[in-house]
Amino acid sequence: MGNKIYYLDNNATTKTDPAVLEAMLPYFGEEYANPSGVYSFAQGAKKAIDDAREQAASFLNADPKEIVFTSGGTESDNMAIKGIAYANTDKGRHIITSKIEHHAILNTCKYLEKQGFEVTYLPVDKYGIVDPGELKKALRKDTVLVSIMYANNEIGTIQDISTLARVTKEAGAYFHTDAVQAAGKTALDVKELGIDMLSLSGHKFHGPKGTGLLYLRKGVRIHSFMQGGHHEFNRRAGTENVPGIAGIGKACAIAAAHLADNNDMKRIKALRDSLEKGILEKIPDVQVNGHPGKRVDNTLNVSVRHIEGEAMLIHMDFEGICASSGSACTSGSLEPSHVLLACGVDHETAHGSIRFSFSKYSSQEDVDKVMEVLPGITQKLRSMSPMWNERKKNR
Ligand code: PLP
Repeated sequence: MGNKIYYLDNNATTKTDPAVLEAMLPYFGEEYANPSGVYSFAQGAKKAIDDAREQAASFLNADPKEIVFTSGGTESDNMAIKGIAYANTDKGRHIITSKIEHHAILNTCKYLEKQGFEVTYLPVDKYGIVDPGELKKALRKDTVLVSIMYANNEIGTIQDISTLARVTKEAGAYFHTDAVQAAGKTALDVKELGIDMLSLSGHKFHGPKGTGLLYLRKGVRIHSFMQGGHHEFNRRAGTENVPGIAGIGKACAIAAAHLADNNDMKRIKALRDSLEKGILEKIPDVQVNGHPGKRVDNTLNVSVRHIEGEAMLIHMDFEGICASSGSACTSGSLEPSHVLLACGVDHETAHGSIRFSFSKYSSQEDVDKVMEVLPGITQKLRSMSPMWNERKKNR
């Protein structure tokens, strides 16, 4: 790749930390043994998995046995939701989630609806917040599971997970949170949160793609949706992805150190805030989506009214800027973001949204580049927009 890249799409994926790559390499090479082997040559691979389990457990304040390694956030979400749903049909078939979840949750719930389960999709306020009062009203005797995401991938809004979990537990149901977009951005303590399950994805916090984990509290029984060997304490069959597991373990250890160093996160927040301020100052008729305060520090979602987010992205791409007009998994479709619609944003404004997401590898240069080109891009696109010209006439 010749031209310089200004990468501001870290909620889609992050750059693998070189130390993560280094931790993985031996298991692609000389340490290729199957960790289930009884001979001493397998001990290196087995130890890599044990160490990674310790690192992940320490990152979440969990017990190592409560960590199940998976192939990513999508699998962890499926495992939690289907696992609890199928294991608890004697109690009930009702599940509660929110309207702003990632499709890994929403489409799993839709699948279960076709299998005879009932799902309630809780609304959110204009900032994307789920009201614990609404959850309380929705809980029923036959509710087996509540799944509410920790931080939203598009707008960054953070939920009050400990309150939502407490309300759920009082009603006797299990609580799961998709914390894929929270890992490495805010400290996660499963005990303090009082939750039963939590999903993570390695590639969202400088680990390898195709790796994830599910925190499964001791004593919580789930139905296995994959049949096979006795790996992962009988909870996830299949020979372990040893390099990937070593990688996500290392990513957990690095993220823990990064969060402990408050200056790292402060720097990311300062960059995000300076871009937000710059855009609001230099581009008229813009709104910031998501909660102003209860938001992960790396995420900025703005709607530039009267133009298409996709058009802005293409023009920014010519300049080497990588951003997104929603979650990477839904871009490419012309449907406006279900998250913004749930927040009450009108269709046209939702279509004009773009997301910038930062990481520890982001710099002031990235912000400066966006501010150098975006005001001109929006001016040019608006000059061609009939809606913008109409609006100017009516002023
Ligand atoms: N959950 C959320 C909130 C996400 O943002 C994503 C990925 O964008 C996922 C789940 C899926 O994770 P993975 O890409 O590891 O399957």
